[in-house]
Amino acid sequence: QVDTQPKSQQPNRGGKARRVIAVHSAKGGVGKSTLCVNLAVTLARRGLRVGLLDADLHGPSATIMLGNAEWPDPGPDENTILPLRAHGIQFLSMGNLVTGKTPVIWRGAMVHQMLSQFYRNVIWDDLDYLFLDMPPGTGDALLTTAQVEPPTGVLVVTTPQELSLVDTLRGMRAFRDMNVPILGFVENMSYLICGSCSHRDDLFGEGSTEALAEELDYPLLGSVPIEPEICASSDRGTPFVIGHPDSESSAVLGRIAERL
Ligand code: ADP
Repeated sequence: QVDTQPKSQQPNRGGKARRVIAVHSAKGGVGKSTLCVNLAVTLARRGLRVGLLDADLHGPSATIMLGNAEWPDPGPDENTILPLRAHGIQFLSMGNLVTGKTPVIWRGAMVHQMLSQFYRNVIWDDLDYLFLDMPPGTGDALLTTAQVEPPTGVLVVTTPQELSLVDTLRGMRAFRDMNVPILGFVENMSYLICGSCSHRDDLFGEGSTEALAEELDYPLLGSVPIEPEICASSDRGTPFVIGHPDSESSAVLGRIAERL
């Protein structure tokens, strides 16, 4: 739910975000970054102050999805850095700090160090929400995040063809062990609506995430269809919800955003 509590009554986090939402998935390629970007922009379009930190240091995507590959400016104090801006949100991604297609090859200790610096040294303007686009799996980044920028909640992204229930459970358990609340699931690439006859095709079967959510007693916050334009919009650097605000998929994303 969108919190409308006046700023004066909010806990003072020193100019930091009030709600820190980690978007996580067991595997890569399920649409975690796509949902993270579109949910962040959805809330910004509703007048909320939103930041997005791309915590996926090895596979950063926000730079391209938000269409801003600028180099960030230094902040007011030594070692600080200012976030970039795109489509109404503030953001920072490793993609803005490495040039070209250079892969980021770091060991765990370096991930911890870099991510800690991201969390501590980015000088955000006041935020209502900070989205963390987490790397997939249960590596070092989860522990660092829980220690340095504890999320107020985690959104778990799955797809219906989820081959790795075990991995999903492992990720959820890791957050739970670190006392990070799980907000619920979002099923991405749930179904396809035929462009010509509007028939709904559950390409990968149906109900798997619903069953999982029920079994684990967490809400399924929404199911986002496969939408070729979602993919094309990301590649163009303009999040889907901006170009297609009246689509059913944007409505689904809007309903999910309201529950964060
Ligand atoms: P992850 O962050 O989990 O690795 P991405 O967000 O990068 O996944 O998405 C993987 C690919 O799938 C991207 O090419 C993205 O544009 C595409 N994609 C994600 N969600 C959808 C969707 N609902 N419909 C169509 N394509 C999607």
